[in-house]
Amino acid sequence: MKILIYTDTLSERLRYLIEVVFNEITPYTFEITNNFDSFLHSNDLKINYSLNNAPNCLQIIPFELLFSDEIKPYKLNFFEPENIVAFEENLQEKNQYIYSHDFFAVVFFIISRYEEYLDFMPDYHGRYTAKKSSLYAHGLHKKPYIDIQINRFFSTLKIIYPAFEPKPLEKIERTLTVDIDRIYKYKGKSSLHLFSKCVKNFVFFNKNELKCIYNYVIKKQPDPYDAYNFIHNFTSQHKTKLHVFYLLSNKGKFDKNIIDFNLLKQIYSLFKTESRQGIHPSYHSNFQKDLLKNEIKLFEKFFNIFPIESRQHYLKLTFPDTYNNLIANKIKQDFSMGWSDSIGFRAGTSHTFTWFNLSINKTSILKITPFCAMDVTLKNYLKLNTKEAIIELREVLKTIEDNGGQFVSLWHNESLGTDYEWAGWREVMEEIYN
Ligand SMILES: [Zn+2]
Repeated sequence: MKILIYTDTLSERLRYLIEVVFNEITPYTFEITNNFDSFLHSNDLKINYSLNNAPNCLQIIPFELLFSDEIKPYKLNFFEPENIVAFEENLQEKNQYIYSHDFFAVVFFIISRYEEYLDFMPDYHGRYTAKKSSLYAHGLHKKPYIDIQINRFFSTLKIIYPAFEPKPLEKIERTLTVDIDRIYKYKGKSSLHLFSKCVKNFVFFNKNELKCIYNYVIKKQPDPYDAYNFIHNFTSQHKTKLHVFYLLSNKGKFDKNIIDFNLLKQIYSLFKTESRQGIHPSYHSNFQKDLLKNEIKLFEKFFNIFPIESRQHYLKLTFPDTYNNLIANKIKQDFSMGWSDSIGFRAGTSHTFTWFNLSINKTSILKITPFCAMDVTLKNYLKLNTKEAIIELREVLKTIEDNGGQFVSLWHNESLGTDYEWAGWREVMEEIYN
């Protein structure tokens, strides 16, 4: 079924929202027209996005956001009892044919990450935190707000157009994604390095670490970060989609992978047939733009293939620079859309969508796949134990199941290995993806 939308003015933002976002997220075809006559005579399911009078037709009273090319502060307010966010000046009186607010403008505001283009106080790593976002402020961040509101919108359409049949929700798709920041904890390091590590840990009475080194060196147990066979076996058995991202830099405090061709190639080969593998741009590449080019060259040299997928190390994502640099380096899909300090839906949706570059007011070619939870967030930021983490993750899974979409979570080889610091977390992942 086609859904036709009338507007007086065809703007870039509106085209993006209707022709790109809705066509990507929903199972329907959305089209827009600025020809009022043909709109009135069309047999499609119609939405009047203007102040014109179109009888027996759902009307959305437009807010200015989609017809502007400026970036200026707007505030989303929370309204009960519907538990929605809207621009207050655009809120409408209850009426069967007039939608409660400009739902299109709200979706655009959230999915474009409009508020991240405005001035904000970043965290220590220069990132936009969940606590700054409107969805978090109104307690709506743990559910895919846009996906929920799209379903609500379809229910309203069904009331006005009884012939309209909302399609059944698609089955949830679970995707496991793994960042490889440090391929091994000890393997590949010199005996001298391990010896000095022992001395240091002895001085600081770190029994766990000493035992870990002892198990690796003397008892010949696998490296604690060696989770590769486990991940490979688990995803093969459960037919779970897997995406793996490699940090190929050792140039600083936050970028310290072991750049060893043979070790990296072994891991890459293990995952080669069943997974998609991409680049994990280094911490420093987010402000030293040339570094990404070099890291991609290294990826090509090591693995003999060009990476088209990417996720920012430390989730360093700055609008629009990070994405512009990815596009300039021919990356097609990014997986960084999520928060470090909270679980939930940074862009309000669990679906993959195309990025709109607000700074030039144009639809880009970059695809964004959001994730809704990261291992480090659960354990270190939210300080959850493994039982609490499972409860939180199940709740997120449930909201996706209820609204249709994909469940993507972010793990590391470190958390899925056998290191004492992550004891019990491999089981959390197994529980959620089982
Ligand atoms: Zn990383």
